[in-house]
Amino acid sequence: MHQHPFKVSAVLLDMDGTLLDLHFDDQVWNYALPGRLAARDGTSIAQAKQQVTETIERERGTLRWYCLDHWSGIFGVPMHEVEAEQSGLVGIRAGTQLFLAHLQSCGIPAVLATNAHPRSLEMKLAKTGLGDYFTAVRSSHDYGAPKEHPAFWDAFAADVGFDPARSIFVDDNLTVLRAARAWGIAESYGITRPSSTGSAREYPDFPAVDRLDELNERCAHDID
Ligand SMILES: [Mg+2]
Repeated sequence: MHQHPFKVSAVLLDMDGTLLDLHFDDQVWNYALPGRLAARDGTSIAQAKQQVTETIERERGTLRWYCLDHWSGIFGVPMHEVEAEQSGLVGIRAGTQLFLAHLQSCGIPAVLATNAHPRSLEMKLAKTGLGDYFTAVRSSHDYGAPKEHPAFWDAFAADVGFDPARSIFVDDNLTVLRAARAWGIAESYGITRPSSTGSAREYPDFPAVDRLDELNERCAHDID
């Protein structure tokens, strides 16, 4: 962030908590799934919620953590069905469309890079209609490594083709932002409040924005 600003040649964007309100995912994992488990097992919602949290935490940062098929097997609950039931809660964050339309008008390619399961990605794009804004849409599941891992970035860059020294990246996951920086992405931003109903997040060593359209000026035509 202390480098001279470069002319942005591509914008890489996370989906959940960045383009979309993380409220949906929060509801799925903290309420809908525990609710199902409690009803099935005759435990309290609080107990089920704790069980889910503890079980999921063991896999944090791995591709399995993001894999609905994995959790469907572990919990014995069809997670794609749970997501479909909750899909009315999928929402676009304020400023997202304005930013994507701005990039389109500037001719700057927008690339969606998510750790979400491909079926979840497909459901969310169908719900929101955001897919048309992107020159490429990729799930890390297709590369066998999550964004937290350099193997993702190697495979993603080879597949999509972008210049890391002239690209900016936005994500609400600090571990992912650090991995992107370590791999060579020149400039990255966090999202201050990924869930409209959650608390603010801190990114100790990255700038952060609330709305994506705060980056419109950074991605203008006339920056040399
Ligand atoms: Mg995210």
